[in-house]
Amino acid sequence: MVNIADNYAQVMRRITLSRHSSKNFDRQLTLLAVSKGQPVQALRVAYDSGARHFGENYLQEALSKIESLTDLPDIRWHFVGPIQSNKTRAIAENFHWVHTVDRLKIASRLNDQRPDTLPPLNVCLQVNIDKEPQKAGVAPEDAEELALEVVKLPRLKLRGLMCIPRNNTDGNPAAPFRAMRLMRDQLRDSHSQLALLDTLSMGMSADLEVAIAEGATIVRVGTDIFGPRVITNPSSG
Ligand SMILES: *Cc1c(COP(=O)(O)O)cnc(C)c1O
Repeated sequence: MVNIADNYAQVMRRITLSRHSSKNFDRQLTLLAVSKGQPVQALRVAYDSGARHFGENYLQEALSKIESLTDLPDIRWHFVGPIQSNKTRAIAENFHWVHTVDRLKIASRLNDQRPDTLPPLNVCLQVNIDKEPQKAGVAPEDAEELALEVVKLPRLKLRGLMCIPRNNTDGNPAAPFRAMRLMRDQLRDSHSQLALLDTLSMGMSADLEVAIAEGATIVRVGTDIFGPRVITNPSSG
């Protein structure tokens, strides 16, 4: 039996411990409960344990959960899956954050489709930090140019960078996270319009401690909170 309340408390303890062993331990640190593949009752248990930020990868699955949980108005919904053009409107209308923007076309559509009645949509640029051919994300050398375009879009609020590093980082798991922090710092220091980039979305169940030590501000944890995923989706989302 998966005990979500115990798991959530355990992950919070890991975060607190890593925060105190890292340099600037007073920074904002958000636990994003990645609830893809989990039934809505599991999200309610996590909410009752303290979770307020939920991450979803698959639009249809996410929309039905958002609809079912409208009685919990302080939930913040984060889209963390791949984005096809035909999904941008529903994402712009229903989410507070998008972590997986990796091209200007998608950013422009989200900007155009964000309702005026809502605050600007928080976005992170997904960076393909290990340059894996099969993986989504802007190439590290193209991130600056993309950031300078996205920050101009008035209905988006560019918050920072996100990555999913390679699984086995031969001997140095900290390297991709450190590269992300240096990239974020360089963007902030080189361009006044990027001075407000405050977010590094990095670290998952297996490596959240390493990511926090390198400056993560949002860690995205699925399995270690909810256990194995139970709803199956088409892998393309
Ligand atoms: C599924 C997923 C996670 C959570 O992964 P776990 O290994 O279950 O913690 C985090 N980030 C993204 C982008 C994901 O798709």
